[in-house]
Amino acid sequence: MIEIGEAQHRVLEDIPLLGRERIHILDALGRVLAQDVKAVRDVPYRDNSAMDGYACRHRDLAGAESVRPVTLKLVGESRAGSPFEGFVGLGEAVSIMTGAVIPRGADAVIKVEDTVPDGSAAVKCLTAPRPGQYIRAQGEDVRAGETVLETGTPIRPSEIGMLATLGHGYVHVYQRPIVAILSTGDELTDLDQPFSDGKVICSNGYSLAAQVMEAGAVPLSLGIASDSEEDQRSRLLDGLRADVILTSGGVSVGKYDFVKSTLSEVGMKVKFWKVAMKPGKPLVFGTIGTKPVFGLPGNPTSAMISFEQFVRPALLKMMGRRALFRRVIEAVLAKDVVSEAGRLHLVRCRLIEENGHVWAVSTGTQSSGALRSMVLADGLMILPPSRRVYAKGTRVKVQILHSNSPLAHASPFWSRDTARDESMLSQTA
Ligand code: AMP
Ligand code: MG
Repeated sequence: MIEIGEAQHRVLEDIPLLGRERIHILDALGRVLAQDVKAVRDVPYRDNSAMDGYACRHRDLAGAESVRPVTLKLVGESRAGSPFEGFVGLGEAVSIMTGAVIPRGADAVIKVEDTVPDGSAAVKCLTAPRPGQYIRAQGEDVRAGETVLETGTPIRPSEIGMLATLGHGYVHVYQRPIVAILSTGDELTDLDQPFSDGKVICSNGYSLAAQVMEAGAVPLSLGIASDSEEDQRSRLLDGLRADVILTSGGVSVGKYDFVKSTLSEVGMKVKFWKVAMKPGKPLVFGTIGTKPVFGLPGNPTSAMISFEQFVRPALLKMMGRRALFRRVIEAVLAKDVVSEAGRLHLVRCRLIEENGHVWAVSTGTQSSGALRSMVLADGLMILPPSRRVYAKGTRVKVQILHSNSPLAHASPFWSRDTARDESMLSQTA
């Protein structure tokens, strides 16, 4: 039996990086960049206005105030998309729109709200602009030649916007691993089969497929194999076309637990079997050539939690991600927790933000089969085996399981009620 950290290390040292493919940026959401992206030109491409107003020379307006306005002569207009081609001379201004190019000669913009029209060909300016005021400088966002996005970056809407800004309609991303999933167990039945006494619905086939999809990979179902070596073997051979093989069930020490030996028969070299963690002890990991193979335990929660610790980081690594692990935060125990595991215990918990602390509370029965406590969980308390009782008030580490945990967005930062907004400000100050 090996420790979880050592097991993770042994898994990840064997994980190959997949190849690249070129796809349209709108297909790239959630994918991982497989190229550095450099800017070929400055963004903004030219100095342009951040306001609707008048492009002018700041010196002309020195000392202007509402009681002592300074009048400038209007010599033209610079619209977004159609720049003013002339020059702004002494005592002159050009009417300008947001995003329009700053004309030659001008070095500041005075916004419409700080002016009053003076006939059709002049404008009265009520303030003195600073040099460069309301000018978005050429290259202030991105400089030509700069590497803006790096290989390994997960692509979110903002990266897609940036790719478009830089003129890229297509982009190289890492391929997504195809993950074959085999569920094993004579007792298992599928959703389209009639349910009968003694049967268990094969939920792992679904939860694992969903975890694969959530990680950004592609599940391939190998169906349900009985606890027989022939059935398991033929389905696993079919699964060899995938990039990764996952099995669930049959890897413990039961009389009908054949998965480890069938995996060996189809060519798996065992790297380790059994990890000192609860839930999820009887995990086997190995490789067929460079293909990673994970024999996950059958208990629904053990399978999911083992997936989180070992399979997800491996899939992310294959897809070129650099950040492989879920976020770990510190939380305070809201109640005593008794850990009878004798090994690292990952306790499903809810997180509650209150009185300036994040509180962790167990979601109920921690049986390896109980999925309900997984449904209710925001994260996993990480309880080392050094203690049996973790008392209320103890600070513990918690691995966050979902991006939709309450900490991700406990409440919107805005409200209809300004008084409440003010109180939020004073709390965070
Ligand atoms: P095993 O690891 O094969 O000993 O299975 C441990 C427990 O998990 C048993 O109670 C099984 O019925 C259950 N189990 C195994 N595979 C699945 C599955 N695919 N879906 C739901 N429960 C399962
Ligand atoms: Mg079984």
